Amino acid sequence: MKITDLKCTILGGQPTIRIATDDGIDGWGAAERSKHYIKPHVLYYRDLLIGEDPRDVERVMLRIRRQGGFKPWGSAVSAIETALWDIAGKAAGVPVYRLLGGKVRDRVRVYNGNVRFRMGGSEPDDYARVMKQMKDSPEGFSIIKQGIAFHGPMVREVDGFTYGELRDGGPHPSRGPLTERGLNHIVACVEAMKAVLGDEVGLALDCGPGFTVPDSIRLARAVEHLNLMWLEDLITGDYVPYVLADLYRDVTTATSTPIHTGEQIYLRQNFIDLIEKRAVSVIGPDPLDVGGIAELKWITEYADLHGVLMAPHGTGDGLLGLAALTQVCATLPDNFIAFEYPTASTEWWPDIVEGLPDPIVTDSFVTVPDRPGMGLNLIPDAARPHLSDEDADFFD
Ligand SMILES: [Mg+2]
Repeated sequence: MKITDLKCTILGGQPTIRIATDDGIDGWGAAERSKHYIKPHVLYYRDLLIGEDPRDVERVMLRIRRQGGFKPWGSAVSAIETALWDIAGKAAGVPVYRLLGGKVRDRVRVYNGNVRFRMGGSEPDDYARVMKQMKDSPEGFSIIKQGIAFHGPMVREVDGFTYGELRDGGPHPSRGPLTERGLNHIVACVEAMKAVLGDEVGLALDCGPGFTVPDSIRLARAVEHLNLMWLEDLITGDYVPYVLADLYRDVTTATSTPIHTGEQIYLRQNFIDLIEKRAVSVIGPDPLDVGGIAELKWITEYADLHGVLMAPHGTGDGLLGLAALTQVCATLPDNFIAFEYPTASTEWWPDIVEGLPDPIVTDSFVTVPDRPGMGLNLIPDAARPHLSDEDADFFD
């Protein structure tokens, strides 16, 4: 079997790729939906793939893996990796989880970082209100993650929140020391959310990046009595192209609150410091940024040997990302907590795929499908009307 083509289109805001083969099997993959600019980067790898056997996933990846980087520049390589596994599974007539070593669970726990309601402000009551809505949402989420502090509008909306400069541009651009008022405000919001969730639903917080080390320690200690699932990306994180494991270790060793990072990190090598130094308690690579699902599997196994937990990122990965996350997370060891549930980027996306369960999430779990490959296929006739003129030949 040989790869004959690699194509990319932005389908309802979701970067979507197709790897075509000479025996008619297609492999589907996606990148996070904020990356509408990624198509030229995907096509950059086209000539390196043509003529290769897609079932030799690792051999193909060795041709392209070095030419990627931290978020967003690992997403094209990652999308290709997942599409190769999709083909390899279909060619063998088995679900991808079998090729990764077999599943250890029939249904996979998801957490909510994506089903959202209008905040309207950054006061404790605003957080409590949306937390009630998320708790009541039909997916029955057992863990909810909320943005707070530098990760969202709070840094701007609360007067005197930080001694740092407020910046525009790019995701989460502000960083600096918290004022005492800022710290107290965060804690008040967290207490308001926990008052709603009680011990029925776990609460995780996406906090930065932007915190200093001493403020990270102060916040982590101030919320110890609330038994949070984790504090995410305090110091570095989303779109920061480095790790700073030693700084995280200073925080992690100073508190009983679990500390989490990793969604922007590309490749297993860049997790060595975090894992071997036990610099965080939980890591959260995104399979569509870290280099793919086999990369995520390897990192999880290595983390498990070091007592580090795993809660993969995935919020913008769309339905094809959901399929990839479900397959790989079915195979992960018991340091797996839950993956971040990705929703469809448009209302019509569920209508252009086959293999999607209905409902997708029941009691905070997604059932692992037994269809060959990733278990989710685009339906060309249904999807074609949504293609841009430029990509009208995407399915041809
Ligand atoms: Mg995050």
